[in-house]
Amino acid sequence: MRYDKAPMKTAGIYLHIPFCTKKCGYCDFNAYSGYKDGTKARYVDALCREIALRGDKSYRIPTVFFGGGTPTVLAASDLVRVLNTVREYFVLDDDAEISTEANPSDANEAYLRTLRGAGFNRLSFGVQTFDDRLLKMIDRVHTGRDAASAVASAKAAGFENISLDLMFGLPRQTLADVHRSLDTAFTLDVQHLSVYGLIVEERTPFWARRERGKLPLPTEATEAAMFAAVMERTANAGYTRYEISNYAKPGYESRHNQIYWRNEPYFGLGAGAAAYLDGARMANEKHPIRYADQCLAGQSPTVESETLSPDDTMGETMMLGLRLADGVSLAGFAARFGVTISERFGEAVSRNIEHGLLEQTSTHLRLTERGVFFASDVMADFL
Ligand code: SF4
Repeated sequence: MRYDKAPMKTAGIYLHIPFCTKKCGYCDFNAYSGYKDGTKARYVDALCREIALRGDKSYRIPTVFFGGGTPTVLAASDLVRVLNTVREYFVLDDDAEISTEANPSDANEAYLRTLRGAGFNRLSFGVQTFDDRLLKMIDRVHTGRDAASAVASAKAAGFENISLDLMFGLPRQTLADVHRSLDTAFTLDVQHLSVYGLIVEERTPFWARRERGKLPLPTEATEAAMFAAVMERTANAGYTRYEISNYAKPGYESRHNQIYWRNEPYFGLGAGAAAYLDGARMANEKHPIRYADQCLAGQSPTVESETLSPDDTMGETMMLGLRLADGVSLAGFAARFGVTISERFGEAVSRNIEHGLLEQTSTHLRLTERGVFFASDVMADFL
């Protein structure tokens, strides 16, 4: 007799480490500086408690991502302990992508060897620029030289999947500065680049400075030229743009982030972490001390939970999927929702195609080259 097992559900796991050495002026992430080691140790205990509480072996886990904050402000042994706890309470794929964000100045070879030995296989360094003058201006604690030596240490420690985060549109940054940062990034020969334009978010020091007229940002035209330069130069250097801001050598696209852009399920563990499971979006208590109190008292730290209607889920699937260079699969959308993209969003699709911002291939709906520059306007049409 043959027994067919139902295929296991899959979900990524995101783990949030909310500590940084110093808060950057543009940052609106759930990140805090100035906490003592005892608070961090208590947070790690709490995170392990939450992992045990949420553990679910009915899911197959293809990706685990440590983000923040800056996960590498913790001791390497703490990150290893958290990863081992994840392994204890979830079923990880043998070839799971296990990433951590890292600050270049925390990343010495011994530290990175410990992570590699425990199974971490992808590093994402927050570099932003290699220009020390600009790094200072945005409150980063590392130098351009630290970033280059962190990449060398990562390679020596055995990492073969390394990503650098870079930024353009920084105060006082010129187009030539962006070219110089790209030159350095290319010489480091990493597998992946994330290159984001600066967004000045409300309630950040940069927002207040801009209000006072004290934030000398590049003009919109210069920023567009920077974005165009990033797209052209990364392509010439052998990176494929697979998402609006993400570029990879073949086979090194971030598997974890693609889960978000495809609107697929993921667990979110840690202070302020968001999760998307069984059609519901959830979020944890943001403050690390209150989060730790709740977890250590055996309580769930979830403070928000919303089950999305099919209409909301369709809108989010379009908004996220259009970020991908391939766009949204026509057949995949129809199979998931029982309705085609044109049946549900006919008007938004035709309008954006007419304006030259969207195009339909035989299999996908995607942004045009021009549409990439107006992505947020196009996406807003689907919500
Ligand atoms: S290092 Fe990253 S998370 Fe931390 S303050 Fe700076 S931008 Fe925010």
